[in-house]
Amino acid sequence: MLIGAHVSPAGGPAKAVARGVERGAHAIQIFNQNPRAWKPREYSDEEIEAFGDAIAASEIDALLIHAVYLLNCASDDETIRSNSLRSLIASLQAGAALGAHAVVLHAGSAKTGDVGEAVARAGAVIAEALAESEGCALHLENTAGAGGTLGRSFEELAALMDAAGGDARLGLCLDSCHLLASGYEIRSAGALAAVLDDCVAQVGLDRLGSLHLNDSQKPLGSNVDRHANVGEGELGEDGCAVFLSEPRFDGLPLVLETPGAQRSGPTAEELALTRALRERGLAARRARSGGRQG
Ligand SMILES: [Zn+2]
Ligand SMILES: [Zn+2]
Repeated sequence: MLIGAHVSPAGGPAKAVARGVERGAHAIQIFNQNPRAWKPREYSDEEIEAFGDAIAASEIDALLIHAVYLLNCASDDETIRSNSLRSLIASLQAGAALGAHAVVLHAGSAKTGDVGEAVARAGAVIAEALAESEGCALHLENTAGAGGTLGRSFEELAALMDAAGGDARLGLCLDSCHLLASGYEIRSAGALAAVLDDCVAQVGLDRLGSLHLNDSQKPLGSNVDRHANVGEGELGEDGCAVFLSEPRFDGLPLVLETPGAQRSGPTAEELALTRALRERGLAARRARSGGRQG
């Protein structure tokens, strides 16, 4: 498992690598454009080369690019949809240029409209973005389910992938806070295994490509997306340890998108705690399976 953090790309993508290194990250996630403006950020050849040199010299093995939250591929407003398409293509092109593991996307929101029609609209935009780009995977993120957001269940994520044509570049990003908020109990090894069985049946294990570890300020089924620092929310240290040690998550990049102790994002200390909780979770699983054999 490549444990890391969402970091700022201010000053260029090589600076994001430096911020990851400072935090002891093995994976980083960035926004590829200003989260509040439609204008795509294009990277120069020099910036791409500097990024390549920085990441090669680091222990970071995966870059995720998070599409900004302005996007709503499911909007019934054609202008918003075409802006979302252009921005998503730019993200996928940036991902290909930087050799990203994937672009992570919240598929969009039906607002108060019909969910089936919203899924069809989002699927069409995603299919077109994939057709207009190449080389970078696109991971749809599960959502907390607030206000008509699509992707609150594995059924809905599978429907989105179907509507997008089932392209081989489509994958899934699972967020621990969003799972709990959308009503999935994941705080014991058995409960998480059952949730993943459902995920595998609906979406397929080969689609599972990246992870977000966030604790949740709000309780199970609240449909409210409020990240808490690792161990400080409804998941708690034990729930985070379960998520971090799930065998089907082995090898995947996992990034924290937490507020952080100084409200400036995940810190080196929080990443160290995360690694320790993974070890704790693995030890608990070994003790249980040893107990069963004995
Ligand atoms: Zn997330
Ligand atoms: Zn969230």
